[in-house]
Amino acid sequence: MKAVREVLSGTKSLLVGMRLTLREFFKPTITVQYPHQTLPMPERFRGHIELRRDPETGKALCTACKLCERACPSDCILVDGVKLEGEKKKSVTDYHLNFTQCSLCGACIEACPSDAIQFTKRYNLASQTNDYRNMDLVQRFKDQPEKK
Ligand code: SF4
Ligand code: SF4
Repeated sequence: MKAVREVLSGTKSLLVGMRLTLREFFKPTITVQYPHQTLPMPERFRGHIELRRDPETGKALCTACKLCERACPSDCILVDGVKLEGEKKKSVTDYHLNFTQCSLCGACIEACPSDAIQFTKRYNLASQTNDYRNMDLVQRFKDQPEKK
């Protein structure tokens, strides 16, 4: 009698398992073939900061006022700029970020009066060297194609 009960209970659990397997088998695949495919990051995701572009002029919005540099609690921003002839405000010439010290707190973004920096959606940074100790955000800005 005990053996029959065991067979019945084993068969029941097998059928429950098979039902689950069959149900999942016909659902669409959700596995992402990283790194060939990536998922879009949520709206509020925080990657390292980057310079924002003025949509009208195509130039960086940053005026090198250094408020972000002063606001950063981790002391990981270094900004410099020059006042070009005929311009009222300074233009950024250097914007260096030590991303290895950045806590992604957002104080720099909040402090910026020109809305000139934003978090990126980059999450898969990796390096065998110290690339992220001194990220040249001006160079990255120049390398980025203008969105039309
Ligand atoms: S997010 Fe915070 S820690 Fe990172 S650069 Fe901005 S102010 Fe500094
Ligand atoms: S606070 Fe804004 S405008 Fe001022 S240096 Fe930082 S990014 Fe540039």
